[in-house]
Amino acid sequence: LLAARAEAVIERDGTAFRRTLADPKGPYGRAAIRSFDALVTLPVRSYSLVPSFDALGDLGRPRDEVRYPAADEVRIYLVQERYAFDGFDERAVFQDHYLTFVRRADRWSIASDSDLEDVGLFSQKNIWDFGAPEVSRSENLLGLGAPGSDVAALLDVAETARRRVIERWSRPWSERTVLIQPADSEQIAHIIQATYDVAPYVAFAFWTGGAKDFPGARIIAEPEAFASASAERALSILTHEMFHVAALESSGPSMPHFIDEGYAQWIQYLGDAAALTRAHGYADGDLPEDHEFFIGSADEIYAVYQRSLSAVAYLIDRWGEGKAERLYARIGSMDGPGTAAARLDAAFEAVLGLSLNDFEGAWASSI
Ligand SMILES: [Zn+2]
Repeated sequence: LLAARAEAVIERDGTAFRRTLADPKGPYGRAAIRSFDALVTLPVRSYSLVPSFDALGDLGRPRDEVRYPAADEVRIYLVQERYAFDGFDERAVFQDHYLTFVRRADRWSIASDSDLEDVGLFSQKNIWDFGAPEVSRSENLLGLGAPGSDVAALLDVAETARRRVIERWSRPWSERTVLIQPADSEQIAHIIQATYDVAPYVAFAFWTGGAKDFPGARIIAEPEAFASASAERALSILTHEMFHVAALESSGPSMPHFIDEGYAQWIQYLGDAAALTRAHGYADGDLPEDHEFFIGSADEIYAVYQRSLSAVAYLIDRWGEGKAERLYARIGSMDGPGTAAARLDAAFEAVLGLSLNDFEGAWASSI
């Protein structure tokens, strides 16, 4: 690790591109070293930078050359930053960086990770890029908080949430995760590389890679939301996100958001009859479509979540938790030819004995 901080060497065709040390006084070099110094205080098992020279090719443009008038050559490549936390990530988490390699005489150095932000290509950030985090650890959870935050208190609540999920979700998962509480929602947007407005959301379950072959999941808590939340509300939110982490192992590309979000809320609000009544009040008989979860006002998004809870509560009420879990796993394992809708239909038929359309109709007439 220390060697990587001092000099990450990336080679291609005999050319060595060296990270940071060639220009440790430049703004990128200074930030990278600061970030690395914070990272090595955490339980990191592995770290590497892996360039994808051929994935997107050289992304540098004439205007990037103008930025570095003293350079003999400027290239911008997609580089994957990979790291794994010991005891939490079975495989390395990977994150996209867009790094500018600058050659002066025969020496290459990395000059920037932000030159492509004007076209929306942001290098992914981690909480330690914003300063050395507060660290707290329990047997099953690792908590990283913005400097000055009480991440240990948050971790306690997350442990309770973890036990709640284990009680209601019998499918296998690692039962361990990393909890992150950045300083504000702007940092969150950089960490999760949000392409939508994160303001209406109080927490996120986040991972890189696809469901099932994801290398490591994170729960990200929005600090203001938690600062003003009661203990009960904080537990409720973390239970919801913990479910997402638990379910990831059984999920897949065909999983509709309404099932994920409805199930997460069903566990979150278990035993809260008022929450269920409220949800059924929003149900209009139309199962929410995926895009509805990201587009719209906070009120509209809230209503979409309520409709999802209503539908999943109906599913579990009528068919039971065992079948609901089996349906989830069936949808999660579906891949291959045909449309997503056809695959969903097949899963509903196989597990519940009726099509998705018939399920929607049955739910609508139950309200
Ligand atoms: Zn959710």
